[in-house]
Amino acid sequence: MKYSLEFTSNFIHPQHKLKFEYTEFPFWCDGCKEIGIGSKYKCSTCNYHFHKHCALPCASFVHPFYTKCCFQFLERPPGLVERYCNACLKRVSGFMYHCSSCGFDVHPCCANLPMVLDDGELKLELRSKMSAVCYTCGKKGIGIGWSYRSTCKKYNLHVACVKGMLVEARHDLYNCEGGTVKISSDTGIDEFKKLDTGLPSLKAILHNFHKNSMRMHT
Ligand SMILES: [Zn+2]
Ligand SMILES: [Zn+2]
Ligand SMILES: [Zn+2]
Ligand SMILES: [Zn+2]
Ligand SMILES: [Zn+2]
Repeated sequence: MKYSLEFTSNFIHPQHKLKFEYTEFPFWCDGCKEIGIGSKYKCSTCNYHFHKHCALPCASFVHPFYTKCCFQFLERPPGLVERYCNACLKRVSGFMYHCSSCGFDVHPCCANLPMVLDDGELKLELRSKMSAVCYTCGKKGIGIGWSYRSTCKKYNLHVACVKGMLVEARHDLYNCEGGTVKISSDTGIDEFKKLDTGLPSLKAILHNFHKNSMRMHT
């Protein structure tokens, strides 16, 4: 996906220009209503914030997990019943991709999840089902929803747990004093690209979250 500093999206917000911004604070996307961090597009007139992939959606796309589906981009869920994302199992209330023939729904951020998360030490692969207890939240999620599984098979994680974890970990990473990431106004666009795909140590995050959820259970 390309980065442009300013553009008008005839698709999602034709009224005003959207400006690229980089934020180290989590924000709620006015498109898909999900949390985001890092690259975003902002309309200063309406004070709207959009994920990069929500500001630049594809009209339709095919996902490798559902090759028979043709997902269409919609600004809101169709019909009157509540709809849930096939990937993270959370409610869909804004921008979404919908397959009209089988009724599958996916959040734009779930549709754009990387197939592999690799920090050089641990490799997590995206899978179309969950086959064990989630290492992060300790809950079962067998069969339904997507998951990330480490190649060593030790870690099974709900997609929703990974999404939340990464936002928090990135937030900590940007904010820790003397941390690896420094953001200033003259940080180049290539730098942002690196930040968006760069990962904090997955093992460290996993252990942190594992400890926290264990503490909550006792
Ligand atoms: Zn969004
Ligand atoms: Zn606007
Ligand atoms: Zn389908
Ligand atoms: Zn989702
Ligand atoms: Zn979980």
